[in-house]
Amino acid sequence: MKKLTPMMKQYLDLKEQYPDSLLFFRLGDFYELFFEDAITAARELEITLTARDCGQEEKAAMCGVPYHSVSNYLDRLVEKGYKIAICEQMEDPSEAKGIVKRDVVRVITPGTLIDTNLLEEKENNYLLALYSNQEGFGLSYTDISTGEFYTTHYPGKDNITLQSIKDELGKIAPKEIIYSFYGKESYGKNLLEYMRTLNIHAETIDEWNLDLNGVEKRLKTHFQVENIESLGLIDNPLETMASGILIDYLQRTQKRSLKHINHIDFYGHRDTMLLDANTRRNLELTHSMQHKGKKGSLLWVLDKTVTAMGGRMLRKWIEEPLIDHKTITKRLNTVDYFKEALLSREELVEALKHIYDLERLTSKIGYDSANPRDLISLKNSITYLPVIKEILIQSQDQLLLELLEDLDLLENIKELIESSILEEPSVGLKDGKIIKASYDPQVKELRELASDGHHWMTRLEEQEKQRTGIKSLKVKYNKIFGYFIDVTRSNLDLVPEDYIRKQTLANSERYITPELKEMESKILGAEEKIIALEHQLFLQVREQIKKHTHRIQKTAKVVAGIDVLNAFAQVAYENDYHKPEISVGDKIHIAEGRHPVVEKMLVEENFIPNDTFLNNKDEAISIITGPNMAGKSTYMRQVALISLMTQIGSFVPAKNASISIVDRIFTRVGASDDLSQGKSTFMVEMTEMAHILNNATEKSLLILDEIGRGTSTFDGLSIAWAIVEEISKNLKAKTLFSTHYHELTALGSNLTNVQNYQFTVKEEGDDIIFLRKVLKGNADKSYGIQVAKLAGLPVKVINNANGILHSLENNKKKPKVLEDQVQISKEKVQDGLSIREQREETHQVAKGRNPEQKQLDFHAYYERQ
Ligand code: ADP
Repeated sequence: MKKLTPMMKQYLDLKEQYPDSLLFFRLGDFYELFFEDAITAARELEITLTARDCGQEEKAAMCGVPYHSVSNYLDRLVEKGYKIAICEQMEDPSEAKGIVKRDVVRVITPGTLIDTNLLEEKENNYLLALYSNQEGFGLSYTDISTGEFYTTHYPGKDNITLQSIKDELGKIAPKEIIYSFYGKESYGKNLLEYMRTLNIHAETIDEWNLDLNGVEKRLKTHFQVENIESLGLIDNPLETMASGILIDYLQRTQKRSLKHINHIDFYGHRDTMLLDANTRRNLELTHSMQHKGKKGSLLWVLDKTVTAMGGRMLRKWIEEPLIDHKTITKRLNTVDYFKEALLSREELVEALKHIYDLERLTSKIGYDSANPRDLISLKNSITYLPVIKEILIQSQDQLLLELLEDLDLLENIKELIESSILEEPSVGLKDGKIIKASYDPQVKELRELASDGHHWMTRLEEQEKQRTGIKSLKVKYNKIFGYFIDVTRSNLDLVPEDYIRKQTLANSERYITPELKEMESKILGAEEKIIALEHQLFLQVREQIKKHTHRIQKTAKVVAGIDVLNAFAQVAYENDYHKPEISVGDKIHIAEGRHPVVEKMLVEENFIPNDTFLNNKDEAISIITGPNMAGKSTYMRQVALISLMTQIGSFVPAKNASISIVDRIFTRVGASDDLSQGKSTFMVEMTEMAHILNNATEKSLLILDEIGRGTSTFDGLSIAWAIVEEISKNLKAKTLFSTHYHELTALGSNLTNVQNYQFTVKEEGDDIIFLRKVLKGNADKSYGIQVAKLAGLPVKVINNANGILHSLENNKKKPKVLEDQVQISKEKVQDGLSIREQREETHQVAKGRNPEQKQLDFHAYYERQ
């Protein structure tokens, strides 16, 4: 085997350390990729694959991208889930002896983005670590673009814990997970599968990282503390391990100190309303199913935030509604204050508009990637803080005054930037034009020298024009020749003898003189020096600001909070929302409630408001009947959303509302798209229902849409029936239950806490008009054929269906056997017969009948009910 070239050897040595990353190897003005990496990158980026001699018989596959446009390529690869190790030249090639030193300076992964276009302004980009031992799980996550760092733990490893972790992962939606699971237990596989369905890049970490002592040491070094207790990690190996793994991963990939990640936020699972992944999806809190994005979600309606930080905080608030009466009331009062104080609101928005993303700016400073313009953005933002302060002082509102205490005006940072950085500095750190002359005497001197030189050139031009009589003579500059005298072709006969010709162009000749060159070296020398000096001074200023990261972050959080509260006021004002009252009792009473999103989506019609009465005593369960398309799902979701909006501190789309705090909202709505996991729709429905019955409390709100429809009518009816009974007798959670089983309404008369409601329609000839009004009572018809007609089913099919229905209805003699069965079923359910027993009976009765006949009989029976 032939020897590898030295450069290839260097490449392979580095590649060995980063086997799971694409290695971007800096070669002059390009980043090159070799071998397998090259093949992958060429395919993914659609760039040309070439080959390079590497000393072996066979050439090495190679592709490359120019360094100045690398970010675009990096973004594309990261988006596809790749990790990229950036290898730079660590010395100036012109000064290198032998092969240029190279090293990996950073590994870019989906969860560690900081300065790229891939970051969504109003979204976080989280990296999460999940750790488990015999005791349970530790979970930590961070966003290095904002400096946030959170941790929590889950004692225990049962199915409920597993479900909670899945819900939490769904909520956080990290871009990347690193994990270490104790042993090779089945839950690990289960969680990994779940991560895969969420499309999260997940990887396990090396075992050698998992020593508690080592992890503690790393934490102490990163956070610069003497002991981990001062971080708040008291006697909690689960949280310590998860946090340590996260910090370790950051250090290994980012290879620099991340000073802006400077504290850990601990959170428990009892501080906020728990929302499982289904509920978040069904209620379309931040993502709508129809538009596959923010549009059409609750977030879309509520997002009147002005700053990116506010946008991110709003998202977090929506995902974590509060359960503490006092905190909710405080937020509501503030929204009330802003809603009434129109002038303050406008003034505030005006100020907020000028405030940049302080969190991300701070992170860029912490990450050493902030440029001079970033500092000016920071300074300009700080300029508006006093306006905000004034508004807070004037408000005399409790929460705003609390926020005031945390609002740091950052005056010294503003002064520092103001005194040092030019108002419109260059973007590049090595382009000069960054530092104010007044900041540093040496900058002043060098700049004067350079500027004198420029004046000298102007004077020279005048002088030479006079001397030679060439009116069009010019002193010019370019990078290759430096300064030169340009004389057009028609004036060449006037050129004096002391001019030295340097270059001939089509229309002119270029000359230099010894005097000119002497001055040039003075000017250029000064310029070179000043560039180096400005660079150095800029780094010093940035370093000084870095020390105050925590203060800026604190202020950023205040600004974000004010932005969200003000946005709530703005939304309430524009959409006619009202302040809900937090009820200490156990009720949800809503007068003229509306669905916040559907009302925005309706173009031609007005949204019809509806009332809601739920309490844990005599109105725990509303059974809601009515034809398809009547508005049942909209109504049920609107109640859930109004409760949730109340608990995040927002006003609600209702004339008035009295809401008692719910600990959880559960929804079982429509067909879920879990089919990919190999479960039938019915199986998914029952699994979700089991989850709800096992986890709901009497403080929960349940939205159950057509439970039981995924199986045969009798099975479905029996299950639905038994579920209502269970909720009514034992769980007593506030429940909205829509159904097409009109039989269920019998429960309204028999169970004291079950009420029947119906969505009414008006018949006009063969057609129906939806009234969208919920009324007491139960619907007696399904209007299935009319709805099918509205949906555009072919006329001949509709006519045929009408014919069949007619003949079934005329067949006055009900199918006796079924009638008996339903009767038996109702009695048995009331007698407490198990669902299984009823199902057996159902099967017995139905046995031996022609299946098609059975189907028709069922419809006949239900249409008549
Ligand atoms: P169901 O669940 O009864 O089949 P939906 O709740 O899905 O009906 O409502 C069907 C459509 O009716 C919705 O998409 C919406 O456009 C409209 N709608 C529902 N409720 C109202 C209302 N209160 N006012 C106006 N339009 C409504």
